[in-house]
Amino acid sequence: MKLDATDLRYVTSDEFRVLTAASVEMGSKNHEVVPLSLIVQISGLRSGGVNKLIGSLAKRNLISKVQNSKYEGYRLTYGGYDYLAMRALSKRDTMTSVGNQIGVGKESDIYIVANAEGDEMVLKIHRLGRVSFRSIKTKRDYLGKRKSASWMYMSRLSAQKEWAFMKVLHEHGFPIPKPIDQARHCILMEFIDAYPLRQISEVPSPGKLYSTLMDLIVRFAQAGLIHGDFNEFNILIRQETGEPVVIDFPQMVSTSHENAEWYFNRDVECIRTFFKRRFRYESKMYPRFKSTLSEGGAGFRLDVVVEASGFSKKDMRALEEYMEATKEEEENDNNSEDESEESEEESDLAEEEDEREETSTAENIVPKTRLSQPEINEPPLPGD
Ligand code: ADP
Ligand code: MG
Repeated sequence: MKLDATDLRYVTSDEFRVLTAASVEMGSKNHEVVPLSLIVQISGLRSGGVNKLIGSLAKRNLISKVQNSKYEGYRLTYGGYDYLAMRALSKRDTMTSVGNQIGVGKESDIYIVANAEGDEMVLKIHRLGRVSFRSIKTKRDYLGKRKSASWMYMSRLSAQKEWAFMKVLHEHGFPIPKPIDQARHCILMEFIDAYPLRQISEVPSPGKLYSTLMDLIVRFAQAGLIHGDFNEFNILIRQETGEPVVIDFPQMVSTSHENAEWYFNRDVECIRTFFKRRFRYESKMYPRFKSTLSEGGAGFRLDVVVEASGFSKKDMRALEEYMEATKEEEENDNNSEDESEESEEESDLAEEEDEREETSTAENIVPKTRLSQPEINEPPLPGD
């Protein structure tokens, strides 16, 4: 769907009430389908009127009628939910226009947007459940009491978690994009003029970049955190200075997490593997979890700060279970592709080099589709 925040003016305030009514129910109770009667009740409008409003919202694909239900029901579409979030951001004047889409991840869409002053920013729209809703339905037991995890609820949780972590990381001087605003399943943040490390074929000093990245992993850990997806897709290299900027935080975990050491080792191993393959750079020096923690902390525990900021352990756990469930499904789906990984890596690089000659504008800083991520199941234990 083409996003256009200027369209927001063409949603009347009554239509907005109807959309919001549908979102309240879907968001808080994890219902996929909201009965018409409930929309009428929550919106506080007359039922005849609501029928008409729903018709016009459905025509614009913001809401859709769900067939085969015992009652007349509707659900908000991704478009409808996007609308609500962008309306909130534009009401607060943090964002006034939407530009090009620069990224499509499995679990997000990334747009360049701007405020009234014309400053460019990045809008990250979280889209959990886009790929694997099927698997979630079959994994309800695994998800415990949460009988159905709606994409809307999970997407919002994911954005709220990322926002909470970005705030504290930025406040403590970590090299990440400045977080600007958050609404529903969206995050507004500083635009970084950079290429993902994935697209970089040469750096002046691989050794220096390697140790900067390992130092970052250590800094995270000494502040109580593990990135959890610290790889060449989520490390941006600034065009001007070559400095790394880290992005993508919905999977961050605390160093007190039961599998903390495993996550830590996986982050370290992602960097080691990538540097070996891409830059033929290898070092005996890499951080070990236990010694990193025993060297002493940063003097603050950001995992604790985040919890205190309102993103609860319960929410964290719900999101984690959901992500684990979808990951499992993905791994099963991808198993047949694993064999040719090494040769794929080589040809990706060749393609990227071709592409980069033509793509120097900001619109093109990322490929349209995300390339498959390296899978490291069992990182060697420290000292192996
Ligand atoms: P996902 O969870 O889908 O991987 P990411 O946060 O990693 O989402 O963003 C996807 C891509 O969008 C990144 O690889 C990067 O190229 C681009 N991107 C994300 N945030 C920014 C930003 N603040 N500035 C510039 N590019 C960004
Ligand atoms: Mg990413």
